[in-house]
Amino acid sequence: MRRKIVAGNWKMNKNVIDAQQLMIQLLGYKNENKTNCEVWIAPPSLYLMMAKDIFEKDEIGVFSQDMSEFESGAYTGELSADMLESIDVTGSLIGHSERRQYHGENDESCNKKVKLALDKGLIPVYCNGETLEQRKAGQHLDVVKTQTETALFTLSAEEIKKVVIAYEPVWAIGTGETASPEQAQEIHAHIRGIIAEKYGQEVADEVSILYGGSVKPDNAKEIFSQPDIDGGLIGGAALKLEDFSKIIEGFN
Ligand code: 13P
Repeated sequence: MRRKIVAGNWKMNKNVIDAQQLMIQLLGYKNENKTNCEVWIAPPSLYLMMAKDIFEKDEIGVFSQDMSEFESGAYTGELSADMLESIDVTGSLIGHSERRQYHGENDESCNKKVKLALDKGLIPVYCNGETLEQRKAGQHLDVVKTQTETALFTLSAEEIKKVVIAYEPVWAIGTGETASPEQAQEIHAHIRGIIAEKYGQEVADEVSILYGGSVKPDNAKEIFSQPDIDGGLIGGAALKLEDFSKIIEGFN
């Protein structure tokens, strides 16, 4: 059985008081409700240690939003896999489209990050997805194929099973426009097929693939019900317990 996951990417939102408040609310929710999926959050890195204190029994997985492609040294502002491992975070998002757009990340740097994360026992959540122009030009299947191959195909079969992929079409992020369940399913099946071709079906069937891009309480259930969609990576709707909990309940 593939792991089912609802993960919240908080991006650059919330001051420390608001962040702490939402974490405490989430802990209460998790303690009072049986969820049919794992619940993860990726708060700003400044709050990772606080998150680890609050979720001391790993009730909720704690992820960084990015990590360095380098091991250590003179890289001002960066966080290493080693540092993240030393505070016992669960993993890191890697290659989010906003990192690609504003910070020059590409599939080659993602490949290094994914490998470093795995070497430290962290779960990489590798994000990919096409832009609107690429979709309009009918290139979406090719784009996602190249992204997946470049970032992941240097991994062994044992390693790739530990990776979580988040397909996030850039045109659906923060726009209120969601890929239809059928559009998302098509790409998820495509990604799984590419992995199956290289590593075999058994390996591909173990890789969790999340959908991200305007997932909301009213569309989560239908999206999660698709056969190759194993959960969601949620932006805006992860910032309030009321919305996030309803998305988690999309698995009920
Ligand atoms: P939204 O849910 O706000 O569209 O963001 C999706 C996302 O980028 C999650 O990483």
